[in-house]
Amino acid sequence: MSDTSAIVASARRLGLALPAFNIPYLPMVEPVLAALRDSGTFGLVEVARVEWEKFEARSLEAVAEEYRRHDNRLCSRLHLDHVPVIDEDGLRVDFLPIIERALAAGFESVMVDGSRLPFDENVAAARSVVELCGPAGVAVEAELGSVLGHEAGPLPPYEELFRTGTGFTDPADAARFVAAAGVDWLSVAIGNVHGAVAESARKEKKIEARLDLERLSKIYAAAGVPIVLHGGTGIKPDNVRAAVARGIAKINIGTGIRAPYEAALARGPAAARDAAYRATLAEIETLGLGGNAVRLVG
Ligand SMILES: [Zn+2]
Repeated sequence: MSDTSAIVASARRLGLALPAFNIPYLPMVEPVLAALRDSGTFGLVEVARVEWEKFEARSLEAVAEEYRRHDNRLCSRLHLDHVPVIDEDGLRVDFLPIIERALAAGFESVMVDGSRLPFDENVAAARSVVELCGPAGVAVEAELGSVLGHEAGPLPPYEELFRTGTGFTDPADAARFVAAAGVDWLSVAIGNVHGAVAESARKEKKIEARLDLERLSKIYAAAGVPIVLHGGTGIKPDNVRAAVARGIAKINIGTGIRAPYEAALARGPAAARDAAYRATLAEIETLGLGGNAVRLVG
C-alpha cells in the first residue's frame, strides 16, 4: 500500500475525508500549503492537465518543484489530478507519457480519467496506469460516470440532470470496474459537477449541486475502495458530511479557492496570495477538518 493510500485508509477509519486542493496558478501552491500547516490539517495538493493547459500552473514539473520548496511532510502529499484520455475538448491525449513524467517528478498518487471512453476502454486505460504506478508504490484514482462541467458550453439543466441521473455512476458497473482495473480510489458522479474552465464561463457563479446519497452507499458497498468526490465546491456542507459517512475519502476543491484568488489578482500578487490562503482555511473550516494532520499521519 502506498503512503498516500495508507493515509486515505486511516481517514476512512476515522470517518474523515482528505481535502485535495487544485492549483490552477503556480503561486497558489505556497498559500495552500501554508493554510494546511497553520491549521494543522492534512490535505493533498493537486494539479490537473487542464490547469497547465488552460490556466497558469505551467507544468506538472513546475508544480512539483514549487511544492517541494514549501512542503511539510506532516500536512500534505502531492497528487496528479485528471489526466484525461479524451480531454474536455474531445481530443485524444497521449496519457501514459504524462503519467511517466509525473512519476519522475515525484507525484505520490495520480488520476487517470477515462470517463469519456466506453466502459471497457476506460478499464483498459486505468489498468495500464495501475501497471505503471503499482511498482512505484503510487496510488491510482480513476473515474466512472461523467462528472460534467469542464466541457465548453452550458451544462444541461441541473434539475433534469439529477432527476434522470444522466451520467451518474452505476453501482454494479463500479464493482466490475474496480475489480478489472485494480484502482485504489474511484471518482464517481452522483450529482456533483465541476466548476467551469471555459474562459467564457469561469466567472459565473457555480451552481449549488447536491448528492444522491443512496446511490453513493450502494457504490461504496459494491466497489469496496475509497470514493472520491470531484467538484467539491458549492455542495451544502451537511450534504458533504453525509457523503463522507457513506464512503467519500477525498474531496477535490477547485473553484472554492480559485475564484477568490482570481478576484483578488487585480489588487496584486500579495492580495491574491492572501485570498487563496484565507479561502483554503475557510474550506478546511467548512469541512470541519482543522487539526486532523496528527491523527492521520502522526
Ligand atoms: Zn475532477
